[in-house]
Amino acid sequence: MTSTTRPGPMPATQPPWPLAPSHLSGLVASAPGRPLQASFSPVDRGLIGEVPVCTPEDVAAATATARAAQRQWAAVPLRQRRAVVGRFHALLLQREEDILNLVQAESGKSRLNAFEELADAALTAAYYRRTAERFLRPVRRTGAAPGLTRTTEHRLPKGVVGIISPWNYPLTLAVSDAIPALLAGNAVVLKPDSQTPFTALMALELLREAGLPQDVFQIVTGDGPVLGPAMVAGVDFLMFTGSSETGKIVARQCAERLIGFSGELGGKNATVVLADADLAKAARGAAQGCFSNSGQLCISMERIYVHGDVFEDFLAAFTARVNALRLGTGPGWEVDMGSLTGQRQLARVSEHVEDALSKGATLIAGGRHRPDLGPYFYEPTVLTGVTEEMLVAREETFGPVVSVYRVEDDEEAVERANDSRYGLNASVWSARRGESVARRLMAGTVNINDGYSAAWASHDAPMGGMKDSGVGRRHGREGILKYTETQTVAVQRLVPVGPPPGMANERYTRLVKGALRLVKGALRLIGRRTGS
Ligand code: NAD
Repeated sequence: MTSTTRPGPMPATQPPWPLAPSHLSGLVASAPGRPLQASFSPVDRGLIGEVPVCTPEDVAAATATARAAQRQWAAVPLRQRRAVVGRFHALLLQREEDILNLVQAESGKSRLNAFEELADAALTAAYYRRTAERFLRPVRRTGAAPGLTRTTEHRLPKGVVGIISPWNYPLTLAVSDAIPALLAGNAVVLKPDSQTPFTALMALELLREAGLPQDVFQIVTGDGPVLGPAMVAGVDFLMFTGSSETGKIVARQCAERLIGFSGELGGKNATVVLADADLAKAARGAAQGCFSNSGQLCISMERIYVHGDVFEDFLAAFTARVNALRLGTGPGWEVDMGSLTGQRQLARVSEHVEDALSKGATLIAGGRHRPDLGPYFYEPTVLTGVTEEMLVAREETFGPVVSVYRVEDDEEAVERANDSRYGLNASVWSARRGESVARRLMAGTVNINDGYSAAWASHDAPMGGMKDSGVGRRHGREGILKYTETQTVAVQRLVPVGPPPGMANERYTRLVKGALRLVKGALRLIGRRTGS
């Protein structure tokens, strides 16, 4: 059913979610006898299953097991590691039904959004399977003494990579960073969010079925603040996805040990609609950019700046699109927006909207909790008249709430879009000026005439945040090389670098100076010829 003025329920789509296969909890790396923690579906608060509550000792043991297995895994030819990832890709597609059911049960998202996760994980696997060899192969570098020194840059695995992942994309954020880490010869210890452990465990099961040696990938489940420090204490690199606040805590712990840290963190992403935008496309794209995954997407849009000349027209088209969004859950594909993932999100979304309305914002669409659809459903909500003192102005809502602002010109749009402590993703709608405006936006990814998918799904290009939105990048070259140490190996032929036996130091330095002049002259000549 498509509602006309208010988002409405889907017809009887809600299945009784199957319990997660009970053997999955047996894949958690914990000592026997740990207490169990139940996880419940946000769809209907039904039990999904129980996983052990791991302790720091379990994390230490899992890390030690992973470390022992890593040495052998790194010795496996890359061709074979790539084959494992290739089989994992095939299994993701083969087991689509089970995976989507579990992702939906754990997160409450729509079938389509669950499928996007599966597609993203599969794309990541396909991309790095294809490119890993190119990124990891040794590279010849110019030696100290040309002709005498043969210098090569090698890429060694870091060792054990720790991954801490959130609940909003329980499949792709759990495995998509693990895939390049594994291809580079690392072992992985993953701590998924407590809300969504089963999707991560199913991914582990598929990786093992694809041929990944048993101990190379370990999953620990339990409380972040308890297990996080134990992970940092044992691993050689930490990949974190989650809030900026937690990211800073984990980054500080990594700094103490001088291990690498990569953080994909929060956002308050801005869409800019210029006067020359195709408004119908902008309205459709903005609705998708704001409300996919119920706005619980780090790269989704929470602010829209619209040129004054087209403000009213855009707002009308956008509101119509938002009001036409179909809310629901279950295995049906014809749903645009699912549930929020839990009480914490519902409370935050409600607080942001109520705070804004109590301080004078105007409600254009949505604004209601919808317990008739499920305990945590909230309507896609559009606000105008948002001012600085409102929470929603600057804080990340991480839910289906967007504020629309009128701006006078491109200059003001850029300035206001950049006026945030975050800098993750941005979107520009324009027929001609998209690229020039994009280059002035302080965001790690910018999509022109698209909300977020164009940049995110460009797996060959880096993805990540500026300012409080992150450190480091995933995807592309950087997304795999960060899991490696560089090692420079230089082979010196004939004589070692330094004065040869019997030559006075002064004569040696004169000779080196002459050589330096020759090199400089040669470089100048080459520069003139090549115009560089
Ligand atoms: P969160 O920071 O509370 O939790 C994320 C993960 O960190 C969870 O696994 C949690 O158990 C763990 N954790 C919590 N406290 C910890 C601690 N002290 N030490 C170690 N680990 C700890 O984030 P959240 O609220 O669950 O997720 C939503 C946030 O994640 C939003 O801010 C969103 O923007 C961000 N996010 C960012 C990206 C990205 O790619 N940039 C992707 C998804 C989500």
